[in-house]
Amino acid sequence: MTELIDYLGAFADVPEGERRLAAATRELLERSVMPRIADLYESSAFPSDIIPALAEIGLFVGHGPEHDEARPGPLAWGLAQRELERCDSGLRSLVSVQSCLAMTAIERSGSADQRAEWLPAMRRGVAIGCFGLTEPEHGSDPSGMETRAQRTAEGWRLDGHKRWVSNSPIARVAVIWAKSESSAATGDIRGFLVPLPWPGVEVRPLTRKQSLRVSPSGEVLLKDVRLPESARLPGAEGLGAALACLNEARTSIAWGAVGAAEACLDMAREHTGRRVQFGRPLAGFQLVQERLVAMLDDLISAQLVARRLAELKVRGALRHPHISFAKRHNVAAAQRIAARARALLGAEGIITDRHVMRHMANLESVATYEGTDEIHTLILGADLTGLSAFR
Ligand SMILES: Cc1cc2nc3c(=O)[nH]c(=O)nc-3n(C[C@H](O)[C@H](O)[C@H](O)COP(=O)(O)OP(=O)(O)OC[C@H]3O[C@@H](n4cnc5c(N)ncnc54)[C@H](O)[C@@H]3O)c2cc1C
Repeated sequence: MTELIDYLGAFADVPEGERRLAAATRELLERSVMPRIADLYESSAFPSDIIPALAEIGLFVGHGPEHDEARPGPLAWGLAQRELERCDSGLRSLVSVQSCLAMTAIERSGSADQRAEWLPAMRRGVAIGCFGLTEPEHGSDPSGMETRAQRTAEGWRLDGHKRWVSNSPIARVAVIWAKSESSAATGDIRGFLVPLPWPGVEVRPLTRKQSLRVSPSGEVLLKDVRLPESARLPGAEGLGAALACLNEARTSIAWGAVGAAEACLDMAREHTGRRVQFGRPLAGFQLVQERLVAMLDDLISAQLVARRLAELKVRGALRHPHISFAKRHNVAAAQRIAARARALLGAEGIITDRHVMRHMANLESVATYEGTDEIHTLILGADLTGLSAFR
């Protein structure tokens, strides 16, 4: 695995107890995933065998609003996301979707019975969850969703089509967001827990991706899906319930991007220190040093933003535009670092085994999901000016 880079000591004073989850994550991934990550990526295969170990070290945990002693604090959680994405964005995606989206939706909006039915199994990794918000025609603006939930004598009937649902090919439960018929015009969006497999639900894996290849993605087609009333998340009324989960996942992304960026800078520094051209190591040329320092600029700002995010959360002062800032800033910083690292490795930079191109390609998805750069810019613009420019 790559060497840790923390130039300004952004994480130097993190107490031992807050480092444990990250250390366990790093040890697990170095031992059981890093040696085969290039092969997994080439073959678009998800390493399902590590799910029990991820569960064992405590990475499957909901992020509901209630205080939970067993849940890692924001700093411990963030540092672990950084380790996951230092290995591969797809692994951080698995954990983000399971914990921040699916489990958080159940923890925040589920009934006592729903929590008892799903959360223990999800914590143990026995049940993997997915979160279906995006549709073929509705991505950045999920409020336009066409998936419909209609009341029936027995409960609900769901019809619709969700696309880009991470984890769905391996999931045992899908959190599906749908508009209820009665108030479709005003957008009364509700959440449902759909066990998988289930009559009327078809999960189609999405293949031939050029990015996030170790993360299983799929489409979820819902046709005349009959669910009891007990499948509805009682606390999920309106899009806000889904967006609250997205905020948790976006926070994890801001941290994860730091890990991918560190891996890329470390590889660029190592390669340019070793590779001799024109009679000296590449790192000895001023142009190369300027690039490495520009990467350091980006990395340090991303690390400090991530650290601050955790501090604000602990103090209860974190607002959703802060999260938008961090997601947008850190992913863009990581993308610049990955692209520079790829260039500094020359031809070697395009080989999967050198990892930088894999990170660079993965970051394309990370930049797109959970709100693109443009969407977070508009959120920040609205927060700065008081004027929403979405439409
Ligand atoms: C690998 C991967 C995994 C994913 N996993 C999930 C998941 O688990 N669950 C889920 O529900 N979704 C998931 N998504 C979907 C993701 O959240 C959407 O792709 C994202 O919201 C963007 O939507 P879109 O792709 O439809 O792009 P569009 O909304 O069609 O946007 C296309 C472009 O237009 C820009 N744009 C849109 N609106 C505006 C505007 N008002 N002003 C300026 N520019 C604008 C966007 O920034 C973007 O550049 C995943 C996506 C990927 C790639």
